[in-house]
Amino acid sequence: MKFKHSCGRPDPLTGLKNRLFLSANLERISSSANTLTVLMIDIDNFKQINDTYGHPFGDEVILRVADTIGQYCHGRNKIGVRYGGEEFLCLMVDETAEHTAELAETICHAITQITWPIKQLIVTVSIGVSTNTLHKSGDFKLIEQADEALYQAKSDGKNRVVVYSQQQL
Ligand code: GH3
Ligand code: MG
Ligand code: MG
Repeated sequence: MKFKHSCGRPDPLTGLKNRLFLSANLERISSSANTLTVLMIDIDNFKQINDTYGHPFGDEVILRVADTIGQYCHGRNKIGVRYGGEEFLCLMVDETAEHTAELAETICHAITQITWPIKQLIVTVSIGVSTNTLHKSGDFKLIEQADEALYQAKSDGKNRVVVYSQQQL
C-alpha cells in the first residue's frame, strides 16, 4: 500500500497515524482491498480517569493504550490511527472476519493487563468492529457501522467487543 504521508504527520502524543491520514488514504486503501475491517476502539470512562488522576496521567493512559494497539495493529495490512481524543481505529486489509474479531478480543483483553503506577486502576476499552466485503458501498459507512457497534458495546456494559450486524440496533 502507498500512502499520502504528507497528509498525515503522526499524532504527536502517540506516534500513530492521525485522522487526516485517514481521510487522505481511506479510499485508496479500500480500493486495493477485497475486504476492509475497521475496529473502533474507545477508552472506557476516560473522563473519570482525567478527573481523578489529572490530565497528564490521562495523556499517559492514551499513550500506553495506543502502544498496546500498535503492538497488534501494524505491518503490511494493519494500520493504527488515533481518531480523536481517546478513540482509535485499527484498519485491516484482507483479513478474515474470524481473525479480526479474535484480534479485537485480544486487544480488549491486553488493555486490561496493562499495569499502572496506581495499583487499583484497571483501564478498559470498548471496541466496535465492522467488515466490508463488498468494498463499494462506502468506506466512511464502514466507520459509521463500527461506531454503531461501539455504541452497542458501551450500552452493553463496556470492556467488550461488538461486531456490527444489520440487525443489532
Ligand atoms: P465512555 O466510557 O462512554 O467512553 O466515556 P468517556 O468518559 O471515556 O468519554 P467522554 O467522551 O465523556 O470523555 C472523553 C474525555 O477525553 C473528554 C476529554 O477532555 C478527554 N480528552 C480528549 N483528548 C484528550 C487528551 O489528549 N488527553 C487527555 N488527558 N484527555 C483528553
Ligand atoms: Mg471513552
Ligand atoms: Mg470517546
